[in-house]
Amino acid sequence: MTWDAQVWNFACTLFKRSTPTLIAALPCDQRVLLSALVEAHVVEARPDNNPYVLCPECHQQHGHVVDLGGSGGTAVGCDCPDCGIVTVTPDYRLTVELDTRWLAAQLRLALGISGNDGPVELAEGVWRLGSLRHEPVLLARCVSRLWARSALLGRMRSSTTGRALALTPQTSLPLPAEPFEEGIMWMPLQRCFVLNGSRLSCIEPPPSPRAELARAAQRPVEAVHGPFSDDFEWVFLKDYPHNPIRLTRAQAAVFRALWSFNGEPRKGEVVMARAGLKGNKPAEVFKVKTENKGKPEYEAPRYAYSRLVEVNAREGTYALKL
Ligand SMILES: [Zn+2]
Repeated sequence: MTWDAQVWNFACTLFKRSTPTLIAALPCDQRVLLSALVEAHVVEARPDNNPYVLCPECHQQHGHVVDLGGSGGTAVGCDCPDCGIVTVTPDYRLTVELDTRWLAAQLRLALGISGNDGPVELAEGVWRLGSLRHEPVLLARCVSRLWARSALLGRMRSSTTGRALALTPQTSLPLPAEPFEEGIMWMPLQRCFVLNGSRLSCIEPPPSPRAELARAAQRPVEAVHGPFSDDFEWVFLKDYPHNPIRLTRAQAAVFRALWSFNGEPRKGEVVMARAGLKGNKPAEVFKVKTENKGKPEYEAPRYAYSRLVEVNAREGTYALKL
């Protein structure tokens, strides 16, 4: 990775955090990256008001901040449980935050957004930067902030095309290639922009409607049996961010079996037998392994199961909520 890319990646990491980052807590390599951001005036440094501070001596314990007198109360110490009172220099308690006004202004420039309609903070950590081709451009600190606000996302869509652009940092978690529902086009900040000094440029243009149509063509078009596709391999849950949900063969078989009982409760073993599966617990095939926790492609089917299946634990029966 080039130096510029490392600096930009780090800027995105700072942006992802909703709270300021303590400089003293940063590892050496990140402090070097930070100095480049400080030089470019794209971070804001502020003193930390936390009543506790990481001990500058042992770097293990947090101690209460104590006043050591001095002129204007500037001399403070850390009352470390292990080291006792340790003097804390003022710069040790500095925090940094990416300047979100700088980021918003640069993204507007890089994308060629003009006009007076932005940026506006719509919700905590979510901004509207303006419009591009009459479609709203949103910026969020992370993908999940937008997932959590699907109603807001829905309201922001263009009234004519139904589309919107969403700019967020990439996460360390693996995401689907398109983490949002249809029409919300994602531009991961690290991939789509580069930072030179304090200037951002767009290196991967916003997805064109044509690409969006091609993507839509690969998807099932409609729910045929209630919320399920014709082959039961997709579930359509409109208010869910990963709509439609792709199921495994076994999961589809369980839903197909439950559907065949018309919402009537049936014993677990009956459902499983109808699905052609072993065992008596339909939930088994929706289980998410520890290593797949948090991955939408695994979590989404389980979510669909919890939304659509009524479990009567006492009777050991399962029914589709229709
Ligand atoms: Zn200590």
